[in-house]
Amino acid sequence: MNATDTSHCPRGHRCEACGVERDDLRVEVVVFARLGAGCMTLCPPCADSDVDPPVTASTAARFVQQHGWHLRRAAVAADDALIERLRRGETPPGDPTALALAAWRAEAQHRPED
Ligand SMILES: [Zn+2]
Ligand SMILES: [Zn+2]
Repeated sequence: MNATDTSHCPRGHRCEACGVERDDLRVEVVVFARLGAGCMTLCPPCADSDVDPPVTASTAARFVQQHGWHLRRAAVAADDALIERLRRGETPPGDPTALALAAWRAEAQHRPED
């Protein structure tokens, strides 16, 4: 699973580092020491800065946890596309990718949405 995939990460209305509201915000994957990858809505100056976003440890933990759910959602969506291909006979039923995604899907169904 690609931890930098932000295709299923919701974009906020303000920068989560400096709080500015603007219309060119983007979702960036930020790696927090000892916690892992999380995602944040950032404005371009904050996203391009070499300085880590100023967030508390508990906030960083929340970003990491939420991003894990976003990745699961991405996996479920990918699984839907795969099932569609299986239905059309494009992928052999024993495809290990299909089996892995099916396992992810089963797990995702037992997780809270957000
Ligand atoms: Zn900012
Ligand atoms: Zn995310």
